Amino acid sequence: MTALVAPGRPTVREPPSRFDVETVRADFPALRQTVHGKPLIYLDSAASALKPQVVMDALSEYYVRDSANVHRGVHLLSQRATLAFEAARGKVRAFMNAREDREIVFVRGTTEAINLVAATLGRVRLHPGDEVLITELEHHSNIVPWQLACEAAGAKLVVAGVTDSGDLPLGSVTEKLSDRTRIVSIAHASNTLGTILPVKEIARAAHARGAVVVVDGAQGAPHLPVDVQELDVDFYAFSGHKLYGPTGIGVLYGRHEIFESLPPWQGGGSMISNVTFEKTTYRGLPDRYEAGTPHIAGAIGLGAAIDYMRALDHAALEAHERDVLEYGTRALEGVPGLRLIGTAQNKIGVLSFVVDGIHPHDLGTLVDAEGVAIRTGHHCTQPLMARFGVPATARASLALFSTRDDVDRLVAAVHKAKELFR
Ligand code: PMP
Repeated sequence: MTALVAPGRPTVREPPSRFDVETVRADFPALRQTVHGKPLIYLDSAASALKPQVVMDALSEYYVRDSANVHRGVHLLSQRATLAFEAARGKVRAFMNAREDREIVFVRGTTEAINLVAATLGRVRLHPGDEVLITELEHHSNIVPWQLACEAAGAKLVVAGVTDSGDLPLGSVTEKLSDRTRIVSIAHASNTLGTILPVKEIARAAHARGAVVVVDGAQGAPHLPVDVQELDVDFYAFSGHKLYGPTGIGVLYGRHEIFESLPPWQGGGSMISNVTFEKTTYRGLPDRYEAGTPHIAGAIGLGAAIDYMRALDHAALEAHERDVLEYGTRALEGVPGLRLIGTAQNKIGVLSFVVDGIHPHDLGTLVDAEGVAIRTGHHCTQPLMARFGVPATARASLALFSTRDDVDRLVAAVHKAKELFR
């Protein structure tokens, strides 16, 4: 590979040729707009990714043609809606390499998925003195549901620490495993630091202690291969809107041997076998956890997003994102007074940073004026902010449509902000 050497630009390998980012960008209509008179540079996909046109088309087709309820209808529209909804479940199953469609439950998003697991698994697995093990880099939605479950059961929340670079070595988890560890719940990748966790190794160590393994895949699913059999995890949650799909839809995968032994969570229509005032019996997976009318359009839209993702060359896509991440890391490291938070060996495309003398919120506002959308704040990881001694960071997050040019525009905007604050 030849090296790219441009004046004032970092030297990194040439981008991979098998991934045509310009073709991909053309699929995302939101990228065609200007904000504050400048072409939009969207670096906030870790919060919510933009959507390719095929996702809007799938939503529209459902609403325009088949906008009926699923499962209970005998008429054609309901049958078509049911077919499309269940086909989406099949697409998710294939995407995650789950064994069976019934292991895939549609929920609102990662937050709801983890609350579901914490409430049901917590109820049967946790007793006074038991432990739930999480890590220091977790999102609030993989902390608070476990605090609630621990409180209800008299169990204890145990936290594995990260290193100064934001790495989460296997040892930091294994040293916290004990005979009382009943559940280990970890992120696949950190939304604040980008760190990719050694999920497979953690799962093996946790299973050796008899613990159930739950993965918050909100940031893993959009960037990393998700093979629940290969990872050998028991539950895996993700959100559609970060995977180029609609908001309001997400997935909880559960290994059926454990999942079907759990009690119901929300009660209502669709989740029952038979109801009398004296006693109600419940359906099996996945219906038991899909009470009420599901987000039918959302599931169908998510199916379209998955089709879109799977049609791309995943290895080339990963190489492209890695290239932009490496380029961005070097570029930001070259900005005087800028400190990257999260420099783990193994990362997804997340660049968190602070700049001397500029509050992240001011920085976010100033770069927005240049057309560059980044996120600032604690990123729903307040304990992690405390660990790194910062109240907030600025975070640029990459997607499959991100380019080196996006990074250049970000860096130029940061320089401009620094000038203003001099
Ligand atoms: N976990 C992680 C790692 C996340 O990044 C997010 C979203 N920021 C969530 C959980 C929660 O996802 P949602 O808001 O879609 O439920």
